[in-house]
Amino acid sequence: MQKIIRLLLIISFFFFLLPIETQPSSGLDVTLTPSTISQGEVALLYIQKLEKVKPKVTWMGKKITLLYETKNDAWEGFIGVDLTTKPGRYNMEISISDSNRPKVITVNVPARDYGVRRLTLPKEMVELNTNALKRVRQESKTVKGLFTSSDKTPLWIGRWIRPVPGMIVGPFGRGSIINGMERSPHSGVDLKAAEGDPIKATNRGIVALVAHLFFSGLSIIIDHGGGIQSMYFHLSKALVKVGQLVEKGAIIGLAGSSGRVTGPHLHFGIRLNNGRIDPIKLIEISGRLER
Ligand SMILES: [Zn+2]
Repeated sequence: MQKIIRLLLIISFFFFLLPIETQPSSGLDVTLTPSTISQGEVALLYIQKLEKVKPKVTWMGKKITLLYETKNDAWEGFIGVDLTTKPGRYNMEISISDSNRPKVITVNVPARDYGVRRLTLPKEMVELNTNALKRVRQESKTVKGLFTSSDKTPLWIGRWIRPVPGMIVGPFGRGSIINGMERSPHSGVDLKAAEGDPIKATNRGIVALVAHLFFSGLSIIIDHGGGIQSMYFHLSKALVKVGQLVEKGAIIGLAGSSGRVTGPHLHFGIRLNNGRIDPIKLIEISGRLER
């Protein structure tokens, strides 16, 4: 009998040491698809059983924008990993209210080998003169500003679509070494498109930039709100203006070969919380959404 009492005491002591889940986070149903996110990839976060209470999600120091899905009483959002994020394990924090302990989910971020291309080009094609260099720096500053000043109100609806039907002719993430010098990896995908082919907006958003840029030629950037922007480079014509709201699938411009390119194609890129992610992966994962 004494043995049993001692055993019960020991058990209750260990029980006391266990963390106590506070309501309502104990009922939190979190799904991350896929459950690991490689460099430059994106996952869909799905949080259920909250009875319309909006959770706060923090990932890599940034707040994640969540959309409410009435049908399943769920909140959904995209979790991205920049192309050059150091591989490892990162914590995602989900909190229901300030008084509750956040739920911590550890996400594995494995390395992904995107390959490297070595090129030898004539010096005059690679080296920029002082004026060009000045222009490139100024343009880069302007574009980077658009990625950090995004409005948190999401404008996108459901699934993301391909801007042109063409196949991938230049993969996302590939590094390049030109004349022995390492250049930044390819931050988008090059899709096959002929001169004059119509380009569709990948989702709903506000046109944030229409400009002729040194490297990317005639370029359009759409801000979809909630920290997501899409980019369309090397166009021959722009059919939208800055500040204009465009619906998903609307024709925003025509494909071309402007900027530093060898032939017509569409460079299509996505930024998610200022991270460079594979746009094709976003389209694929968003296929799980309602519309
Ligand atoms: Zn490109």
